Amino acid sequence: MKVVLFALAGCRRGFFAAERANGRFESQARAGDTNQTTEERQPMDVANHQFKLAARPVGLPKATDWHYGESPVAEPGDGEVLVKILYISLDPAMRGWMNDGRSYIAPVAIGEVMRALAAGQVVASNHPGLAAGDYVTGLLGVQEYAIANGNAVMKVDPQLAPLPVYLGTLGMPGMTAYFGLLDIGRPSEGDTVVVSGAAGAVGGVVGQIAKLKGCRVVGIAGRSAKCRHVVEELGFDAAIDYQAEDVASALHEHCPGGIDVYFDNVGGDILDAALAHLARSARVIICGAISQYNAVDGMRGPSNYMSLLVNHASMTGFVVSDYGDRYAEGAREMAEWLGAGKLKSREDVAEGFDTFPDTLLRLFKGENTGKLVLKVAGD
Ligand code: NAP
Repeated sequence: MKVVLFALAGCRRGFFAAERANGRFESQARAGDTNQTTEERQPMDVANHQFKLAARPVGLPKATDWHYGESPVAEPGDGEVLVKILYISLDPAMRGWMNDGRSYIAPVAIGEVMRALAAGQVVASNHPGLAAGDYVTGLLGVQEYAIANGNAVMKVDPQLAPLPVYLGTLGMPGMTAYFGLLDIGRPSEGDTVVVSGAAGAVGGVVGQIAKLKGCRVVGIAGRSAKCRHVVEELGFDAAIDYQAEDVASALHEHCPGGIDVYFDNVGGDILDAALAHLARSARVIICGAISQYNAVDGMRGPSNYMSLLVNHASMTGFVVSDYGDRYAEGAREMAEWLGAGKLKSREDVAEGFDTFPDTLLRLFKGENTGKLVLKVAGD
């Protein structure tokens, strides 16, 4: 299977290897950052448009939190590549990166190009392993061109899978689903697995992997079209529309023996409802809490946590980059499943670099189904 061989090759280097060598995502953010001045680099006669962080948002990011600017594209230095960005990955985590304070990664500084994973084409290379024309993914930022350390990008082949798939199912969200569910959730055949954010990039993959492992899978998503998608397209056993149904009663109905594995992408009331319905020895995976990311009066934690004690259950948070050393293993199996048609990948492609501020908000308004990416230029 071509896609399998390719995924393995890609995982030997690129953002997987860069994390191990240089300390997770920070290294790539620096490598892809073109904040360096034109005194330090040789400018080229091409304009690079960029979105920089202008202010730390309060609540949902607004237009004035961004600075849209232009600077000349520069020549790459030793070991670096110049990449023309084709697709930018829009991830809920970007909202957290805009906040000040301690997290698993340094905040984006005011005036810095907004951090983002992206896919693009190498237009000039001073790295022995990459040539002009190659396609790569990495933390390249919200801009049209990026200079990156060649060791901090991953070579990908758009003949084997479309570029947006490398930002979704075969990229960071896919690895999040794979390791979060299998390593922390440890699902067994016959388990009842519930996942929130079920129609999204991570949740849609979590539910499909759980089905492959012989589990009964219940998704929680907003609106009936998303619920139909996860059941009819992705093969979940049932879906709960949290905007139209009472989640607690629906969980009782769909999970009569309780929840063995709850994969949480949203936090808030949905996490509380799931906690109240755990089975004995349940595993709760804290992957994200998107319902809380724009809270202006602080994040609200769960109140039903004593259910963990009563049910001898565990609740574990994780960050996908913890699994950097094992990405090759995840990518190989995911690529096999994709190649065999056992796993479906869904991407939601928006267009136009200048739409970035509004397109990012689609994540928080529930307007995406599958992996949200922004197409910046034709591939
Ligand atoms: P996504 O699910 O593709 O997109 C976000 C979805 O969240 C929206 O479509 C919306 O779906 C839902 N949502 C938005 N506001 C909500 C609210 N107030 N209450 C409930 N649901 C809401 O995003 P993703 O990339 O797959 O990320 C999913 C979660 O995983 C996020 O919390 C993200 O931060 C986290 N994550 C964590 C890691 C890690 O390493 N721990 C890595 C990647 C992602 P509905 O229409 O269904 O509401």
